[in-house]
Amino acid sequence: MFDRVQRVLDQVGAPMACLFTRPENMTYLSGFTGEGAVLVAEGLRAVITDFRYVEQAQQQAPGFEVFETVRGKGQNAWIEQALRQRDIRTLACETDHLSHDAFAALEKALDGIHVVSCPVDLQQLRAVKAPQEIDQIRQAARLTDDAFAYLLTRVRPGVTELNLVALLYQFFLDHGAQGFSFAPIIASGENSSLPHAIAGNRAIRPGDLITFDIGCKVGGYCSDFTRTVAVGQVDPELERIYEIVLQANLRGLDAVRPGVTGAQADAAARDYIAQMGYGPCFGHSTGHGVGLEIHEQPRLSAASEQVLEPGMIVTVEPGIYLPGKGGVRIEDLVLVTKDGCEVLSHADKKLLVLG
Ligand code: ZN
Ligand code: ZN
Repeated sequence: MFDRVQRVLDQVGAPMACLFTRPENMTYLSGFTGEGAVLVAEGLRAVITDFRYVEQAQQQAPGFEVFETVRGKGQNAWIEQALRQRDIRTLACETDHLSHDAFAALEKALDGIHVVSCPVDLQQLRAVKAPQEIDQIRQAARLTDDAFAYLLTRVRPGVTELNLVALLYQFFLDHGAQGFSFAPIIASGENSSLPHAIAGNRAIRPGDLITFDIGCKVGGYCSDFTRTVAVGQVDPELERIYEIVLQANLRGLDAVRPGVTGAQADAAARDYIAQMGYGPCFGHSTGHGVGLEIHEQPRLSAASEQVLEPGMIVTVEPGIYLPGKGGVRIEDLVLVTKDGCEVLSHADKKLLVLG
């Protein structure tokens, strides 16, 4: 954790303090998962929080001072005191996260101290994972494979999407996950044409495709995974789009390696779907980074100039969605390696027909 703070300060260069308010960035730098802020400078590492989280901060962020906010001495007053004591004249903060009002209040409280945007892109630093981060994500991915295998044993006509969500949650908690990494998408029949469907009371019936887009958290790190399965005989066009999406997924995986841009990886999957005549039915990007957040850097999208590097963890998740009929998405979580990628999702990708 300390080297992460030092790495930020080294990149900043100039004498300034940095204030982090985005929860995942606070956790990344200090280990603290509660509410508040993290303030760092040369010789200063502090978590600023309130009574509810003081003990937690002491446990989670060893080496950090804990500044407890109380009536009459809020976060900005603590920041001002810490900076004046050290004669620091510039404060960098996450202006892409702080609200306009919070920024204005900070400037007002720090009269005479410059408040600027943080010159270090922590999201970019977080994109390349350390070995212990990769371990956690690997575990989360393995558990998600297991959870999917378990869910398949419980799918039958009459079971609702929400029944499956409940079973999934129980499974994750029973097997060491901290919970979901996002609200699971378990979408059956015509609901599966909604890329971000909300699981509901619809009962599974023969002829359905069911999309399972699920993930859990282990040690604060997320997994992300999607498979689409058939219940009995499905419409031939749905079978056809399944094969196209599977090919697009494989082409995307093939493209993921160091030196490739997010746009190139995206194109590998997208161009194939377009060639097969379904371009307009694939409206989201091919993938995204996964870590402390479920969606983080880098993006595998048409606009992404980010270059893939070893240690990045991204998804490859093309899909085709036919409104009113159904949809298919196949998503793998992959680690970018020295010369390609390692797929961390192991569930089979041949169209599985249940029942
Ligand atoms: Zn997903
Ligand atoms: Zn995803």
